[in-house]
Amino acid sequence: MNQGFETLAVHAGQEADPHTGAVVPPIYAVSTYKQDGVGGLRAGGYEYSRSANPTRTALEEALAAVEGGTRGLAFASGLAAEDTLLRAVCRPGDHVLIPDDAYGGTYRLFARVLGPWGVSFDPVPLGDLDAVRAAVRSGSTRVIWVETPTNPLLNVADIAGLAQIAHDEGALLVVDNTFASPYLQQPLALGADVVVHSTTKYVGGHSDVVGGALVTGSADLGERLAYHQNAMGPVAGPFDAWLTLRGLKTLGVRMERHCDNAERVVDLLVSHPRVTQVFYPGLPEHPGHEVAAKQMRRFGGMVSFRVAGGEEAAVEVCARARLFTLGESLGGVESLIEHPGRMTHASAAGSPLEVPADLVRLSVGIETVDDILADLTEALS
Ligand SMILES: *Cc1c(COP(=O)(O)O)cnc(C)c1O
Repeated sequence: MNQGFETLAVHAGQEADPHTGAVVPPIYAVSTYKQDGVGGLRAGGYEYSRSANPTRTALEEALAAVEGGTRGLAFASGLAAEDTLLRAVCRPGDHVLIPDDAYGGTYRLFARVLGPWGVSFDPVPLGDLDAVRAAVRSGSTRVIWVETPTNPLLNVADIAGLAQIAHDEGALLVVDNTFASPYLQQPLALGADVVVHSTTKYVGGHSDVVGGALVTGSADLGERLAYHQNAMGPVAGPFDAWLTLRGLKTLGVRMERHCDNAERVVDLLVSHPRVTQVFYPGLPEHPGHEVAAKQMRRFGGMVSFRVAGGEEAAVEVCARARLFTLGESLGGVESLIEHPGRMTHASAAGSPLEVPADLVRLSVGIETVDDILADLTEALS
């Protein structure tokens, strides 16, 4: 029987502990495992916790289930997951397409780490399939790297359309699904080869752990990624895996509330005299609205907007907010506000990924919506 998302989030990979009946997987704070005779591994085949650890295995199975994949792998951070994936599938000389408003850390990984290692990349507007087709280098483009919605401008890309282009060229389609979360969007079902997460964000959901994940539906690719995970070593530790698993159980209910509250925030912003533009895929005038409506369950909890009066005015709004915590990151239960130009995207200044100076980004939390709206009203006054 195909179980629903919330059932999988609560139960997949999380059978009661066979020895004690503990209903959640314990934190296996252990590095090595007793063997019954040389090579005589016990149930699960555990031998050393870089290769596998039962708490991490529980998280990895749950992640695979909620993304509709067959193999999930948990990492020490989102960027560790990205690096492992890219070094598993790319060779010096390969070429990659990335969003022209990619997450800053992803851009830096390509520009400063993989570039010198011999992997070239081009930023392209992924919402424009013709531009993507034109930017593909037949024979050398190995990966099309997708974020949708993007950070911080909430641009939307057509995952199924991009999968078609990638596969026609023998490239892999990788989707960073951090902003949507597996509850709102299932890229593997739309043709993606690998899903990437910063589980630090919505999956963990409580701003208390840094982590990353890869999920694929391909057994071969899953084996290759697992091999690299072990060979490179950037694994999630057992306590981090446990926290992330705990967060994942409530992802569905949290996302519904994030979306409810974000929709109310958008209603407030679009009619506010000090706001000149609102970025939210749920708005009918958003250029990616139709694609988002097709591939997302709802439109998410991230909202960005531009403030009349330029950079100083935007910085002022961030400084005046009280319930909204001024801080980087996103996807936690608490509302966060930030100025991308000076904070998360400061490193993109002067690059093709520079963001407008009057932009403010919100990660709308799950607090009482009236309190959220009152705080924003005050911050904008
Ligand atoms: C935060 C983030 C990452 C990086 O993840 P870390 O857990 O911080 O290493 C990657 N992609 C997106 C979209 C993010 O928001």
